[in-house]
Amino acid sequence: STPVATFCALTKAATSGFLIKTGDCLETLAKIKIAAFDKTGTITKAEFTVSDFRSLSHNNTLHNLVYWVSSIESKSSHPMAAALIDYARSISVEPNPDMVENFQNFPGEGVYGRIDGQDIYIGNKRIAQRAGCLTVPDIGANMKRGKTIGYIYIGEELTGSFNLLDGCRHGVAQALEELNSLGIKTAMLTGDNRDAAMSTQEQLGNALDIVHFELLPQDKARIIAEFKSQGPTMMVGDGLNDAPALAKADIGISMGISGSALATETGDIILMSNDIRRIPKGMRLARRSHRKVI
Ligand code: ADP
Ligand code: MG
Repeated sequence: STPVATFCALTKAATSGFLIKTGDCLETLAKIKIAAFDKTGTITKAEFTVSDFRSLSHNNTLHNLVYWVSSIESKSSHPMAAALIDYARSISVEPNPDMVENFQNFPGEGVYGRIDGQDIYIGNKRIAQRAGCLTVPDIGANMKRGKTIGYIYIGEELTGSFNLLDGCRHGVAQALEELNSLGIKTAMLTGDNRDAAMSTQEQLGNALDIVHFELLPQDKARIIAEFKSQGPTMMVGDGLNDAPALAKADIGISMGISGSALATETGDIILMSNDIRRIPKGMRLARRSHRKVI
């Protein structure tokens, strides 16, 4: 692109909160054929509501379980953690992060902490293996389909579970349709379970072309590499567990970044607002500016 056309396009995009780092990024953006999105925090608001919190063992009261879980989650920055802390307070339980030893975060799986000599694991199905349990947890009819399910292990024993419900951001379905009309394939990549992924797809009127679920951060990066063999690929993520996929993509778009985090952010493009409709808009701008070169 001519320097002036590029400068104008970058400036115009920036005023609408779409920060394209370089002229090269703008040119690549114009050629994108596949757009992949993270689910939690990108397509959805990452504002969870906790329901059906249950103790599955006679040894632990619900109150104790909520106390331990919320205390461990106090050490996590995952949006689910904030929801679990709110839930605890809503039933008059105050989390105590000081009682948690050896806290560990397992990206895409969950968290671990030691309380009163007990090893406590909280997360999705994968966390069972971390707890040393070889069978896949089955809480059957207890939990609602279409929601995120949290499993709680003490040692190797499944001692509790809970549901989490999130909602899609405003304008996502519209943004996906606009991308489709620009000839771009859309995909969702999530660490969440199948039912939660499919429920999100339904809420979007099945606007996504491809849905992949139960992924670890490195699985997302591997799928981006596969997409790249089909055409220029963009990844949109919230930066929490998506760094490998954002780095692997031809264009990585980070959302929900503000203030000091901006300086260290690695994405090629930063979406300052959480309005995904800025993405097809930015793409049309990139294509118009690209045409001026030829
Ligand atoms: P997504 O790919 O949709 O953005 P994440 O990679 O952030 O999802 O998380 C994947 C899954 O890992 C979640 O659906 C949840 O089951 C589990 N998980 C991650 N962090 C936590 C946590 N702090 N507490 C409980 N579960 C967690
Ligand atoms: Mg996420």
